[in-house]
Amino acid sequence: MNKEIGPLDVALEQLDIAAEMLELDPGIHVFLSRPKRTLSVSIPIRRDNGNICILWGCRVQHIDARGPFKGGIRYHPNVDLAEVTALAMWMTWKCAIVDIPYGGAKGGVCCNPKELSQAELERLTRRYINMLLDFIGPHRDVPAPDIYTNAQTMAWIMDTYSRFKGYSVPECVTGKPIILGGSEGRVEATSRGVMISIKEASKRLGMKMKGTKVAVQGFGNVGWNAAKIAFDTGIKVIAVSDSRGGIHNPQGLNPYKVFEHKKKTGSVQGFKTARNEITNAELLELDCDILIPAALENQITKLNAGKIKAKIIGEAANGPTTPQADKILREKDIFLIPDILANSGGVTVSYFEWVQNLTREHWTLKQVNEKLEKIMIKAFDDVSKTMEKEKTDMRTAALLLGVGRVAEAIETLGLWP
Ligand code: GLU
Repeated sequence: MNKEIGPLDVALEQLDIAAEMLELDPGIHVFLSRPKRTLSVSIPIRRDNGNICILWGCRVQHIDARGPFKGGIRYHPNVDLAEVTALAMWMTWKCAIVDIPYGGAKGGVCCNPKELSQAELERLTRRYINMLLDFIGPHRDVPAPDIYTNAQTMAWIMDTYSRFKGYSVPECVTGKPIILGGSEGRVEATSRGVMISIKEASKRLGMKMKGTKVAVQGFGNVGWNAAKIAFDTGIKVIAVSDSRGGIHNPQGLNPYKVFEHKKKTGSVQGFKTARNEITNAELLELDCDILIPAALENQITKLNAGKIKAKIIGEAANGPTTPQADKILREKDIFLIPDILANSGGVTVSYFEWVQNLTREHWTLKQVNEKLEKIMIKAFDDVSKTMEKEKTDMRTAALLLGVGRVAEAIETLGLWP
């Protein structure tokens, strides 16, 4: 990980670029650069051995001009306030780009979830949510999964919130198990959205999807599902990786088999039909047509951007590319689909889940996927049109669209009092 520039520096630099091009009022620019509310908490939990430990966590609520706050909760050892603030800001632009009525938020707990038992994770989640209770809720702020949190975590959140209310409130959180009101298609939604936007990009470039080669960095929920959907579409998955490292086979890997292997051994490495074991950094520079960073921030930097060979980059992760790297990729004519567009399928289906919960309906997978595809294609189109009109790249176009819509909402609401 490149320590030179942190995610918040990246997010603020991106905002500066958009603010200048949009000729935003300086006051509105500052407004957009700061979160509305930040809650920092010390979470006491009892370990299985009886000891008490205190974990640091936070919830950052960026801007809610377009609707209630929305965003995931991340459990990771690198979580800090600057990172979560950047992630909350990206959520704000993301929701505006797909035009769903939410503002951006993000939560995080600094911990190593791999060292916590299920029971410890449950106690942590319940206590953390208890400490956020006055700040979240179906019309205030609706959490969802992010790195190292999943449907089970969301079930504990729903239960904790509901216990305090005294009645069941499924609409307080999204990404829940289907049995508790979760939406069909939510688990793969981010990856499905990434693949829809890659398909749109390949149409623009006159590239065929079938037989093209993809490398996927990260094999968590988003990376694994992206590899799976790519494989099912006839794309050759030549490399995948996780936090321990990656595997490569120019002839293609079967992600289903890699998934089974990871389930047994804890890592993708050591998979039998892989030709080479590679590092996460090496994966990014492989000879491939499509690159999907689906892990953490700051992976594509000025140090390695020049070595990337892919023609399309679909950012499944949040913030994988720095602004300096953006410039290099643009010079190299690589078509980059920015995170705030590419990975917006996740929050879009979260929105569907919330609507289904509020109306006490349950949509079929077909309904969900059709609606998702429509929204993703429209967002891709809106960003492409902005790119052409402003003669810029997809990242800047997405920012212009997202930041512009939020700025307009703030100005239209007016300032109270
Ligand atoms: N954590 C996901 C993201 O970064 C999903 C957020 C949500 O569904 O609210 O987009």
